[in-house]
Amino acid sequence: MGTNFKAILIEHDGSRHSVGLTELPWDRLPAGEVTVRIACSTLNYKDALAITGKSPVVRKFPMVPGIDFAGTVEESSNSEFKRGDKVLLNGWGVGEQHWGGLAEVARVKPDWLIPLEPTFSFAQAMSIGTAGYTAALCVMALERHGVTPGSGEVLVTGAAGGVGSVATALLAKLGFDVVAVTGRLEESDYLTKLGAKRILPRSQFSEPGKPLAREQWAGAVDVAGGQVLANVCASMKYRGVVAACGLAGGMGFPATVAPFILRGVTLAGIDSVMCPREERREAWRRLARDLDASLLDTMTERVPLDACIPVADRLIAGTVRGRVIVPISNE
Ligand code: NDP
Repeated sequence: MGTNFKAILIEHDGSRHSVGLTELPWDRLPAGEVTVRIACSTLNYKDALAITGKSPVVRKFPMVPGIDFAGTVEESSNSEFKRGDKVLLNGWGVGEQHWGGLAEVARVKPDWLIPLEPTFSFAQAMSIGTAGYTAALCVMALERHGVTPGSGEVLVTGAAGGVGSVATALLAKLGFDVVAVTGRLEESDYLTKLGAKRILPRSQFSEPGKPLAREQWAGAVDVAGGQVLANVCASMKYRGVVAACGLAGGMGFPATVAPFILRGVTLAGIDSVMCPREERREAWRRLARDLDASLLDTMTERVPLDACIPVADRLIAGTVRGRVIVPISNE
């Protein structure tokens, strides 16, 4: 292994937030039993919040951001992993409290790693990334609460973003009638290609509405939160299920209990960060089985490590389509 490695480093000194690509000596790597040579990482919404400093997602400074990575084990003192194993990491506070994936190497706890599904290349796994794995957790939650393709239309908000793109593709492949909600109607062809049957403008959901609206959706995957989530809940069919995973439209929830107590609507919360390992592995197995991998190229933009910082601004502005991957080695 080399003596130095490249990484994005975020520093915070009083009120001054700074971020840049830098070279760090090997001995700065944090403690951990497994050292991974990173082949590919990603830029998720949360990474963009960390890089821009728009939200206090980073809990310790200096921090290497990157909540996802895929790569090859370089060194391991744990019996579960050996040199040469292909592995994947999503979440667990990596990139927030522990140095993350926007670097050439990472050193982590073995419990945070899962084997890479053999179906996927490093780049494909990262095209899915935390966003796609969260989309799979949302789909699993809808199924667990009894939503089937025969139940009726399923709504996906923020459909042109990372979670939304993978949720749309997964649900469509499983035979659901997907209605995609987007603030970017110019992305309609893209959403249709992913499998959306109908496309609705986000404006239809972003203004305060009635506590109960016309019953329309059997299921929903919501990345927006805020007023959009409140309106989605109000327009669920009797016993409909909403998987809520995001806050792209706000942290608030200006809703009433009417949909829950009068229509038996279920609001299922989705957290990918601390999700138990077995459920993660199930989500990745489902992605390997149920996602049309040929769509991944359509939904992925490749950005080199030294260009991540400006792309983070575009992600926060909601102008990135689908997923951003950051190839780090040539593997
Ligand atoms: P992206 O930035 O890729 O996508 C977010 C999408 O939300 C945008 O593309 C846009 O889609 C839509 N959007 C943007 N602004 C607004 C707004 N003001 N109101 C409503 N919709 C808006 O992010 P990701 O897909 O990676 O993540 C989406 C959300 O999910 C984020 O809030 C993220 O933090 C959260 N998340 C949560 C996880 C968890 O564990 N719970 C894991 C992963 C993500 P369009 O243009 O189509 O409308």
